[in-house]
Amino acid sequence: MAIADNISQTQQQIAQFEQNHQRAADSVKLLAVSKTKPVSAIEDAYAQGQRLFGENYVQEAADKSQQLAHLEGIEWHFIGPIQSNKTRIVAESMHWVHTLDRAKIALRLNEQRPSNLAPLNVCIQVNISGEESKSGISLAELDEMVEIVGQQSNLILRGLMAIPAPQISLSAQVATYQPLYQAYQALADKIVTVDTLSIGMSGDMEAAIASGSTMVRIGTAIFGARNYA
Ligand SMILES: *Cc1c(COP(=O)(O)O)cnc(C)c1O
Repeated sequence: MAIADNISQTQQQIAQFEQNHQRAADSVKLLAVSKTKPVSAIEDAYAQGQRLFGENYVQEAADKSQQLAHLEGIEWHFIGPIQSNKTRIVAESMHWVHTLDRAKIALRLNEQRPSNLAPLNVCIQVNISGEESKSGISLAELDEMVEIVGQQSNLILRGLMAIPAPQISLSAQVATYQPLYQAYQALADKIVTVDTLSIGMSGDMEAAIASGSTMVRIGTAIFGARNYA
C-alpha cells in the first residue's frame, strides 16, 4: 500500500538525516499532514503506526477528529490559519495548535478550552522570511507573546513553528532557519515545557533536521499531491 510505504520511507529518511546531522536517534517526530485527504488515508497511516496528524482547515479538522475518535492515541495538530470566529471549534477538537500568532487568539483558545480536556499544546508561529503576506510574529515580538501564553492556564507553550519562503539550496534553507533555532534554544532554556521546534515540510526536511527540528510536518511525501491548497 502506497501510504504505508511512504510512511516507512519517510521514517527512514528522518533516521538518516538525524544520523547525518549529529541529531539523536528519534529526536524528530513525524507529523503526517492529512489536509484535503480522506479519512481512509488517515486510517491507512494509522494502521502503519502513525499517530500524529496535521490539518489546516478548521471544519475539516473537527470533522475528521470526530469521525476517527475511536482510534486510540491519535493526536490532532492544527497547522492552518485561525480566525477568531473559529477558535471554539479548534479549542474543542484539537490536541495541538502550531499557528498561534495573535494574543487575541491565545485568549480565546484559553477561554474556550473545555475543562474536561487537557490543556491545549501550542507553538507560536514565527515569520522568519519577513514576508508581509505570511502569518507569524517577528522574533522581536516573541518575548511579549511568550508572556501572554504563559498567563493562560489552559494553554501549554511547547515551542515555535515556522513556514519559511522556499529556498533552492540546502545551505540557504539552513541559513534561514538559523535565527529561529537560536530563539528556540533560548526559550527551551527558560521554559521547561518547551520541547518542540516545528519546522520541515516535504521540500526541506533535511535542512529542518539539520537546523534542530523536533517535528517535521509532511504531507505530499506521505499522501501524494493535493488537488487544492
Ligand atoms: C500543507 C502543509 C504542510 C505539508 O506540506 P508538504 O509540502 O505537502 O509536505 C506542512 N505545514 C503546513 C503549515 C502546511 O500547510
